[in-house]
Amino acid sequence: MWGIRSKIRKINQVSRGIWNYNVVNNFRVLSPEEIIINLTYRCNSRCVMCNIWQRKNTKEMGLEEWKTVVDDPIFRKVKYLTLSGGEPMLHPEFLEIAELFLQKGIPQKGLSVISNGFMTERVVNLTKEVAVLCKKHGVDFNISVSLDGKGRMHEQIRRIPRAFEKTSQTILELKKIQKKYGFGLGSGSLIIRPNVNKMAELEDWYKKRGIDYSFQIVGFHDTFVDNLDTKEKVNYGNNERQALLSILKKYSKPSSITDFRSYYWRDMYEMYARGSQRTTPCPFLVDQMVIDCMGDVYYCLSAPAVGNFLQEKRSIAAIYKDPLNLQKRKGMASKECLNCNSGCNVNAAIASDMKRYLWFRLTGKLWGH
Ligand code: SF4
Ligand code: SF4
Repeated sequence: MWGIRSKIRKINQVSRGIWNYNVVNNFRVLSPEEIIINLTYRCNSRCVMCNIWQRKNTKEMGLEEWKTVVDDPIFRKVKYLTLSGGEPMLHPEFLEIAELFLQKGIPQKGLSVISNGFMTERVVNLTKEVAVLCKKHGVDFNISVSLDGKGRMHEQIRRIPRAFEKTSQTILELKKIQKKYGFGLGSGSLIIRPNVNKMAELEDWYKKRGIDYSFQIVGFHDTFVDNLDTKEKVNYGNNERQALLSILKKYSKPSSITDFRSYYWRDMYEMYARGSQRTTPCPFLVDQMVIDCMGDVYYCLSAPAVGNFLQEKRSIAAIYKDPLNLQKRKGMASKECLNCNSGCNVNAAIASDMKRYLWFRLTGKLWGH
């Protein structure tokens, strides 16, 4: 059932993307249809590739502050909302904030949560409660639990005792109740230097347990994750190059007609193997955005914030549609984006430029190569 829903979502995204990105986008600024909210920067992990967990004394928005924001015009067309972090389920009012949005009809179609899964009991209980709320409001619910390796590998990356036992237990507990509560379950794994040679083992673990999974390539930014200092330790060196290229090559082979992500993997293969520039379109340049618990507004998390709705006393929509900000976003396409390896929501992105995907499927080549 969930597999069918996710296929329908993909088809909707494609048709919506073709129309919005190629036609409407030429006449007016598109309102975001997908928004990520970083609900808290508190985190109970100590990941080697991220410095979010080291942030101190941050004054974060609680339920009362979110109540003053939820009527912002920016949310009017939001179909998909993702609650992320930090560890979003560490927010003491996580459930109340999720309910606040749902009561306002936000999002219209799907709510997602990304968790590190360390607090098995809390994650499972909150998942049950949010799944019930989503059902009541006619919205799909999806949870993704991050896992970066089997056994000691996950512990080495997350630097938390018994990390693998905790996260895997959460995934398996969620799997048990998934049908009863009717939610989508997946796991995301970040490929970094320590685990790049071990991804096949992890894939095997997922497959044996029937868990949907996806991989991401590590990125380094002085914004958000603030992880430039981890590059030396975490980025792929010459010894890992072959393993990385094998993974990228493997996923470059489309597994089905709607395997849009294969275009992105091929693009990344060309980038890492030959140093070529990104050709994969990105939804964060068109109709997706990120806001956070400090009031910061981002077009994407690879670039600095473009405003702060708490400090500036203007709406999120006003910041998003500010002509100077839009100018900056447009400029990113020919600068930062060309070397960006972000695979965030590339399914929707390929929908923006179906000709590239069809060209890739027909010729086996990337657009413009
Ligand atoms: S990557 Fe995620 S789980 Fe790890 S420290 Fe950063 S915010 Fe926490
Ligand atoms: S920098 Fe990367 S994530 Fe940001 S808009 Fe460009 S391609 Fe997308």
